[in-house]
Amino acid sequence: MNQKYKLVEVQDLKTHFPIREGLFSRLVGTVRAVDGVSFSIRRGETFGLVGESGSGKTTVGRSILRAVRHTSGSCHFWLSENQGIDVFSLEGDELRYFRRHMQMIFQDPYASLNPRMTVREIIAEPLVATRLVSSRSELEDRVVEVARRCRLNVDYLKRYPHAFSGGERQRIGIARSLVLNPEFIVCDEPVSALDVSIQAEILNLLYDLQSELNLTYLFIAHDLSVVEHVSDQIAVMYLGRLVETAPTTDLFNNPLHPYTEALLSAIPAADPDDELRMLPLKGEIPSPLNPPSGCHFHPRCPYAIDICEQVIPEWREFGPEHRVTCHRAESLELMGVEKSSWGKK
Ligand code: SF4
Repeated sequence: MNQKYKLVEVQDLKTHFPIREGLFSRLVGTVRAVDGVSFSIRRGETFGLVGESGSGKTTVGRSILRAVRHTSGSCHFWLSENQGIDVFSLEGDELRYFRRHMQMIFQDPYASLNPRMTVREIIAEPLVATRLVSSRSELEDRVVEVARRCRLNVDYLKRYPHAFSGGERQRIGIARSLVLNPEFIVCDEPVSALDVSIQAEILNLLYDLQSELNLTYLFIAHDLSVVEHVSDQIAVMYLGRLVETAPTTDLFNNPLHPYTEALLSAIPAADPDDELRMLPLKGEIPSPLNPPSGCHFHPRCPYAIDICEQVIPEWREFGPEHRVTCHRAESLELMGVEKSSWGKK
């Protein structure tokens, strides 16, 4: 049975990258990739993080896993209801040992596997690096167990990644992320590099693994139609900030932020005879080096008014766990979509 206390809690996370130039590395600007993001994820649930390329969602995942250095904010990992660990305070061996709790599945199953290692070596690598097994036979048993869980043929473990299809490679990447028996996995666009026919296979595998092992996912995607099927909660991110968070069904049926509405309108209709209702967004996402004033979305928002350009909208709550940052949230009547029936309930 899932225990629904929070597992990961992120508060006011900022990850900025300084731009330096010249002989004396003079600071000439700052890329605000993540600029004050807060959310929490309950144990055994999937938290979808959605936004266009350049919105900062991958940097959120990498900051939590300490793969990039955050600028400020906190991240707590709750081992139990009462025992939390401040992830950003860990260093050295403490951090290395703690990493077994949190792993990542990468976007590109072609680039993320070392072509010179066999599948057995790839899956075993985290165990060897952390020295969490005491014998060769224990190592082999664990590799075979996770390979089977990920529906890989164990007779092929001595082969190299090039011998496998994209879907099989992604299953090898998932097996590698599971071998340390983590509780939390950052899935960084795990299906976006795969054929549509393979995407459902990988999503189903992730769903089954979550049920069997009570895993908690941060599921990053640029496409709401992918997170719809796996997420309990969804956060929409734009230019380094979250703009709306809600339970999945609520977000789909009743979006409150114009950017969410635009993303929803881009989901292809299940019925080809349905009228295309894609809402055009003006221009490209601006640079996080020089974000617009006030509401970051105002240069592209069809509903913008004067205040939007000057004042950053506050977070406001419009229902159970449904929060939004928009000056006009109560007056706009935005279009949602009926959530399809086979996703998570
Ligand atoms: Fe659009 Fe203004 Fe709302 Fe921003 S605050 S999303 S610009 S209406």
